[in-house]
Amino acid sequence: MKTMQWTVDAKKDLSTNYSQISQAAQLLQKNEVVAFPTETVYGLGANAMSTEAVMKIYEAKGRPSDNPLIVHISKIEDLERFTENIQPYAEELIKSFWPGPLTIVVPCKQGKLSTKVTAGLDTVAVRMPSHPVAMEIIKQSGLPIAAPSANLSGKPSPTKAVHVLNDLDGKIAGIIDGGPTGVGLESTVVSCIGEAPVILRPGGITKEELERVAGPVRMDEALTDERKAPISPGMKYRHYAPVAPLTIVDGRPEQIQELADRYRQEGLRVGILTTKERESVYNASSVKSCGSRSKLDTVAYSLYDTLRSFDDDELDILLAESFPDEGVGKAIMNRLLKAAGNKMLQL
Ligand code: AMP
Ligand code: MG
Repeated sequence: MKTMQWTVDAKKDLSTNYSQISQAAQLLQKNEVVAFPTETVYGLGANAMSTEAVMKIYEAKGRPSDNPLIVHISKIEDLERFTENIQPYAEELIKSFWPGPLTIVVPCKQGKLSTKVTAGLDTVAVRMPSHPVAMEIIKQSGLPIAAPSANLSGKPSPTKAVHVLNDLDGKIAGIIDGGPTGVGLESTVVSCIGEAPVILRPGGITKEELERVAGPVRMDEALTDERKAPISPGMKYRHYAPVAPLTIVDGRPEQIQELADRYRQEGLRVGILTTKERESVYNASSVKSCGSRSKLDTVAYSLYDTLRSFDDDELDILLAESFPDEGVGKAIMNRLLKAAGNKMLQL
């Protein structure tokens, strides 16, 4: 299939991009899949009411079909079309964080969405993105849009259109290139089913920010268990992963350099993922900074692009520094641990 490509300038008045976006919206109405920028990462959208359309997402990505999708809407009234019994604290979260990088999991009305979106669950994950291009394509389609990240399953999520094309060119009907995305990591996913919110996936909106609006917020225990899990190569599902096997190393730069030297003596090509503060202290086949340690949102912004760029360097092993487990650092560590299949060395 030929993948249609449109370029839009998201900073300009959207009326100048109207015709590109409406062509893409028409493809969505015809149950085709289209990639578009959001403020988190590029999404791969399809009509959430059509099983035919949603199956095309799973096929293009190679995504396991028991992993449910997030439904994207452009106005609050759309929520009532397919959800019910929204908790008061969820309404507070919506008021504070929508449009934006927050996904809420709420009870789903039966028979409104394709069961392939919810993977048969009686709950659904919903988000209203704030990116003007995402907003406009959803609005013009008039549909709830199921949209996971627009990458091959298991690879780092795309933060630029070129990442999407590297993974999915020829497999999807179209892509809107609206420049690099903003946050750089996927949305925070919060379950709003019980009496209080539970974070299922950390993201750009932090636990602290959620708590200011909704009172105490718990992290899902599966997340904390993963953090504590011992080093167990290959035991867990890898996700967001670069080609070279990744290990997170919690240690001083000298210790990380020593480890890299040992691998090099074994004849291996080593890459090191670091930050701009420490970039110059390392000596390895490839050393890349993904932002500034003192501004973790810059790390979130560049993390996936940097991970992908190591794929060109033919490395045997990739070592990544660790980050503090607070604020957006929680989301960064969550993605790095997934990318590393939970391999973390404490030096
Ligand atoms: P992605 O589409 O790759 O950004 O991932 C969406 C995330 O939301 C995955 O971690 C899903 O497991 C999660 N998710 C989607 N729907 C639900 C749901 N109904 N209940 C719990 N988690 C969900
Ligand atoms: Mg994804």
